[in-house]
Formats: sequence, structure tokens, C-alpha cells
Amino acid sequence: MRHLLTTAGLPRKTVTALLDTAEALKQSLLGREVRKLPTLRGRTVVTLFYESSTRTRASFEIAGKWMSADVVNISAGGSAVAKGESLRDTALTLTAMGADCVVLRHPASGAAHRLAGWVPAHVINAGDGTHQHPTQALLDAATLRERLGDLNGRTVTIIGDVLHSRVARSNIELLITLGARIRLVAPPTLLPRDVAHWGNALASTSGDWPVTVSHDLDAALPGSDAVMMLRVQTERMHGEFFPSAREYAISYGLTEARLGLLPEHAVVLHPGPMLRGMEIAYSVADSPRAAITEQVRNGVHVRMAVLYHLLAGRDDQTPGEEV
Ligand code: ASP
Repeated sequence: MRHLLTTAGLPRKTVTALLDTAEALKQSLLGREVRKLPTLRGRTVVTLFYESSTRTRASFEIAGKWMSADVVNISAGGSAVAKGESLRDTALTLTAMGADCVVLRHPASGAAHRLAGWVPAHVINAGDGTHQHPTQALLDAATLRERLGDLNGRTVTIIGDVLHSRVARSNIELLITLGARIRLVAPPTLLPRDVAHWGNALASTSGDWPVTVSHDLDAALPGSDAVMMLRVQTERMHGEFFPSAREYAISYGLTEARLGLLPEHAVVLHPGPMLRGMEIAYSVADSPRAAITEQVRNGVHVRMAVLYHLLAGRDDQTPGEEV
């Protein structure tokens, strides 16, 4: 694997290898006082963020540091980007200084793909517009695997602002690869117009498009093994997509009552940041059924695994064994 740009077309074998490496890393770091592996010593990772981030940026930094990489963080706001420098020039500047890997977050869909064609470094897509967020989908899959075991045949219900969600797009592709079935539940205004066609490419190869679409959350909850709540992405909205936050919460918020409609074993996920009281009730976000903190924790190990496979990559080796 040279870059991680999308979950679309990522072979199941690669996904499983990444998840297994993340799991092995998690186990090997468990209970250690010093969380430091020498694996990426001498490698330089640059995080280049044109959009705000708490979890993704910090966890890439921690992941790199726990593997002894040198990590440099650049935010568009405090860099020459604010003076008008292009993405290409910024990235070429950083790779001229020796960056081995650029972790890019950008508001334009496709930015990471463009970057991968310009620089000699490995590129990781840390979120490009409404398009893809592959490490989010990998950490979600890692969390679901921990709670549910094999995802083959499981039903994952993705709820909310599908239209603007790179998290939803990455998860749909990845979960289908792992054999899961997807239910999308959203107001009609927050579903992509072409959602029915997303599966055409897949359907032509697998003969199946295991995604259903509905607007009725209460009907979708029983029979779901997991629910993935999405943030309402107001920063990407130009116009009114629903009458009010209150109306949204009434129809699409995960309330205590709705939690009761889920099977006992069902897991609640949210990629964060959460809009509590609107997308998810305070008590539901804090309930033991929610795996939101585990998602964040697994995010570090998954990003370690991705950096390892890109920068030190040998699929048959566990980090720490090679030194
Ligand atoms: N943190 C995720 C992302 O950057 C989800 C969100 O912001 O809603 O896509």
C-alpha cells in the first residue's frame, strides 16, 4: 500500500491486516508505562490540516510519536497558506524538507488524490470535503469488531446527515467489504440524490447492493446490530435542510426511548464532535451501550497501524518484532 486515500476498493485482506495490526498494537501497549515503539525512528510525518480537527489530528500525532516518528503539525491558518500559497506548493515545500508521509485534511473532495500525484511522500487522507475519511471508517470497524466480533452479516444503521458525510461514505464502502449490511436513515433533504446509484458499481461486481434507505428511524432500530450517528455538518450547508434543531431531534435524535428499541447487544457509535441533545441524548452518549470513547482510543491504534503499513510495511510482521 503506497497511500491511504479511500476505503473504496480497499481489498478485504488489506482491511483485515490493518485491523489485526491495530489490535496487536493495542495489546502490546496495554498496561505499558512507556508507550514508545522504535518502529518509525528516523521517519517524518507531517499533518497538514486545512479544516479544524481535535480527534483526527491529535491521534495521528500521538500515533506517530508512539512509534518514534518525528511529527510536524501544520494548520492552514498559521502557515503560508494564509498568505495564498497553494496546496501543491505547500506540500512540495514540506516534502523538500524530508516529510515521508503527509496526512492531509482539506475541504475539497479529491484533494488527497491530487496531492498523491504531486509529492513523493506517502499520503493519508484525513478527510477530504464530503468525500472520504478512511481512518475513521477503519477505527469504527475496529470498535465494532471488538464489540460484535465478525461483521459479516451484521446490520449497521447510519443515521443523520448522510449528504455531507465523508464518514458515511467511507463506512459504507468498508462495511460492505467486511460483509455487513447497511441501513441509511435520514431526512430526504440530507440524503444524496444519487444514493440509489452508489451501489451500481458494486452491484455490477458483487451482484448485491446491501444498502437500504429510509426516513423512519423507529422502524430501522430493531434488528440493527449497531447505529452510527452522524454530525449535522452545518458548516457545509448553504440553506435550510430541516426546520429546526428541535424537529431534527424529534425525528432523528437517538433518545433514551429509541435506545430501548435496539437489541440488547447493539452498539452506539458517533465519530464526534457530537451535538448532544440534538443528534444524541446526553444519557445515551454516556451509556455503556455507546462505544464513543472506545472509538477515540482505537483511533490511535488504527492510525499507528496505517503509518506502520505505509512507512515500515511488511504485512507478515508485527510492529516491535523488526528491531
Ligand atoms: N470528525 C469527523 C470528520 O471530520 C466527523 C465530523 O466532523 O462530523 O469528518
